[in-house]
Amino acid sequence: MSKLLIKNAYIITMNSEREVYENGSILIENDKILKVGKIDFNDLGNNVEEYDAKGKIVMPGLINTHVHLSQQLGRGIADDVDLLTWLRDRVWPYESGFTYEDSYISSKACCIEMIKSGVTTFLESGGQYVDAMVQAVSDTGIRGCLAKSVMDQGEGLPAVWQKSTEEELKTQIELFEKYNNSAQGRVKIWFGLRTIFNNSDELLIETKKLADKYNTGMHMHIAEISGEIDFAKATRGTSTVEHLNKLGILGSNLLAVHTVWLTNREIDLFRLNDVKVSHNPAAAMKVVLGFASVPEMLSKGIPVSIGTDGAPSNNRMDMMREMYLTSLIHKGRTLDPTVVSAEKVLEMATINGAKCALLDKEIGSLECGKKADLIILNPNTIHSLPMHNPIGNIVYSMSSENVESTICNGTWLMKERKIEVLDEKELLEEVKTQGEKIRKKANISLNSNFKIIK
Ligand SMILES: [Zn+2]
Repeated sequence: MSKLLIKNAYIITMNSEREVYENGSILIENDKILKVGKIDFNDLGNNVEEYDAKGKIVMPGLINTHVHLSQQLGRGIADDVDLLTWLRDRVWPYESGFTYEDSYISSKACCIEMIKSGVTTFLESGGQYVDAMVQAVSDTGIRGCLAKSVMDQGEGLPAVWQKSTEEELKTQIELFEKYNNSAQGRVKIWFGLRTIFNNSDELLIETKKLADKYNTGMHMHIAEISGEIDFAKATRGTSTVEHLNKLGILGSNLLAVHTVWLTNREIDLFRLNDVKVSHNPAAAMKVVLGFASVPEMLSKGIPVSIGTDGAPSNNRMDMMREMYLTSLIHKGRTLDPTVVSAEKVLEMATINGAKCALLDKEIGSLECGKKADLIILNPNTIHSLPMHNPIGNIVYSMSSENVESTICNGTWLMKERKIEVLDEKELLEEVKTQGEKIRKKANISLNSNFKIIK
């Protein structure tokens, strides 16, 4: 039995009452929260590690609900290009040449970047080497809902990815049975669906049946670009969401990512069917997907969370930066400064993220009995003082530099900016070497108008 007491902290619990303790403590036993708030230090028992967090903020770990682990080494290969070039000339050649080793290093690097920005749980959109992703989650101590990238049709798809519907379903069942709840329960296996461009109706229907049967989630890019709606109308006779509704895919275990091009009726369909949403503000702007109706969805009670998307479309896996963007772009879009407030953003990045991960009984807030997934923020930087309004400061002023420590499942993953789970310097070298190797293999050339002198 190991216990950890974090004391003298400003604690933002994110419980249902949204209680905040100006001077509180939190007691962790093994992987769980034993007590939170005002704690009597006299009855703690023996062998308690104490950590003084005076002047610091403790809050639930952030939940990044849309990540592409395998795209981490593709950061910078697809800047300032249109989406078709982004996909077919850059990201597909890069990712389709992947080996297990590429995927493992890419995943590990992505997990460490997330840990450094305060993420304790992420939802993977889908890569090819799920076993390598499981290994990276296991080695870095983070929590992840992993999925295979599933595609049984689509124009221009690399040959290595052309699989039959049956093959894609069979592989996913095998992965679920092998890895779900592995790494001390930190790995959950989800069923992947890429996009309506790449998924047949049979695959959509059978995946939904399996997700229901195995009681797990489905992760899908939905209504991402306006061309997707045109494609759905041309091939299915109606828009993506209307079609998914007709097929019976909409449900509480569906995470819909991006959801930029929705009608009011489709937003209502999401509400009626308890569909979960991942909003990705940086990707919405950088890859010019467009702006999702986030305040509208939130006002209807849809659990909207926040995701970074992958490294070629963001290019940071930095949830602190993503929270800032989430609030700002919707104020700008609606010309209403009251929408998507700092408090709302914090809900999106924590408890709403937990709902999207289908794990809100276990994570997303600091409450007795929940998993000890939390972060310690140090506000003592010139860009975040004074602290008139701590929650406003977290969203509008702080950056990932302020994330001082990250604890997941009761274990320190980063303590006072030092990564505890692996040698970070070694990882940086691996990222450089492997990144270069992959770019050469994929034969991606990047144009520049600047004069490069060697
Ligand atoms: Zn994505």
